[in-house]
Amino acid sequence: MSEPRVKLADFLVGVKKLGIAGHVRPDGDCVGSCMGLYLYITENYPDIETHVYMEEPKGRFDYIKAMDKVEETVVDTDFDLFIAIDLSNAERIGVAGEEYVKAKKTLCIDHHVSNTKFGMVNHVIPTASSSCEVLYDMLEEEKISEAAATAIYTGIVHDSGVFKYENTSEHTMNIAGKLMSKGVNFPAVIDEGFYEKSYVQNQILGRALLESILLLKGKCIYSAISQSEMKFYGVTQKEMGGIVEQLRLTAGVDVAIFMYEISPMEYKVSLRSKKYVDCNVVAGYFGGGGHVRAAGCILKGTKHDVVNNLLEHIEQQLEEKDVLHNV
Ligand code: AMP
Ligand code: MN
Ligand code: MN
Repeated sequence: MSEPRVKLADFLVGVKKLGIAGHVRPDGDCVGSCMGLYLYITENYPDIETHVYMEEPKGRFDYIKAMDKVEETVVDTDFDLFIAIDLSNAERIGVAGEEYVKAKKTLCIDHHVSNTKFGMVNHVIPTASSSCEVLYDMLEEEKISEAAATAIYTGIVHDSGVFKYENTSEHTMNIAGKLMSKGVNFPAVIDEGFYEKSYVQNQILGRALLESILLLKGKCIYSAISQSEMKFYGVTQKEMGGIVEQLRLTAGVDVAIFMYEISPMEYKVSLRSKKYVDCNVVAGYFGGGGHVRAAGCILKGTKHDVVNNLLEHIEQQLEEKDVLHNV
C-alpha cells in the first residue's frame, strides 16, 4: 500500500509568516526548489508573508522569476514556519540559521541519503532525483504556474544530470513531462542553465583535465585547483561546477575526485562515482555527505594530504568490491 501523500497545504494552515532556506553554495536544485516553493506560495497564498534566503547564487539562474526577491541577510524575525529545502543538515543552512532555529515550526524537505532529520517535521525521500521532485509531489498540479514549473524543472535537470544519473526514475520523467506542459522553455533551461560555461570556466575545466591524475589502477581520477590558479584564470568558487562530472566521464574510471582551495590549505571536495564507490560514505567519514553517486566535504591540509586521506577509504571500498583485481 502506498503512503498517504504529504501535502504542502497542510503545513501552511494558520501560517502568517514563512521563511524558506536552501544550502550554502546553492546549486541548481537548491535554487530551483527554494524558488519553486517561493513562487508557488506567493502566487497561491498571497496572504502569507514569505521570505526566501540564500547566498547569492550564480547569475546563470536569472531566468527564474523573482530571483531579485532572494534575501542574503535576515532582517525579519518571528517566523511561524521555516522550511529548509535541499539541505541535509542544519550546519549547511547558511544565512538563515539563527531564525530557522527560532521559528515556531520547522519543516525539512529533502532527498539526501545523509539527511540528519533536523526539522520538527522531515519529509525526506532519498530515492528522489532532486528536492524539486520531492517538492512537486507535495503541490497541487493545477496551481503550478509556468514560472514555478521553470524553477522546479531546473532543479530536476541539475540533480539528475539532465535525466541521466541513476536517481532518474519513470516518475521523474513523468513530472518533467507535466512541467513541460506548463510551458517551460526546456531547451534554454538545459543549454543555458546547465551546459553553458563562460570562457574562463572552460579554461579552468581544461586546466583541471590537463593536470588530472589516474590512480588505483585507473579506477580513480583526481584533480585539484589552487587558489592561485583560480585567481590566475579569474574564476570564482561559484564557477567551479561541472568539472568533477567531466572527470567522472573518463573511460574506465569508477570514481572522480575534484577539489578546489577555498582558503589556504582548505579544500572543497566533490566526489562522483559510476558503479562501485559509495561517495556518501567517503564524504560522511570526513564530516560531509550527499548521495551514493555524488557527495562532498571540506578537508584541511595540502592537496596531497587530502587526496591521500580520501584514497584510503576509496581503495578500501574498491578492494571490498573486488574491483582492483584483474585490472
Ligand atoms: P557537490 O560535490 O558540492 O556538488 O555536492 C554533491 C552532493 O553532496 C550535493 O547533493 C550536496 O548537497 C552534497 N554535499 C556536498 N557537500 C556536503 C557537505 N559538506 N555536507 C553534506 N552534504 C554535502
Ligand atoms: Mn543541492
Ligand atoms: Mn539536491
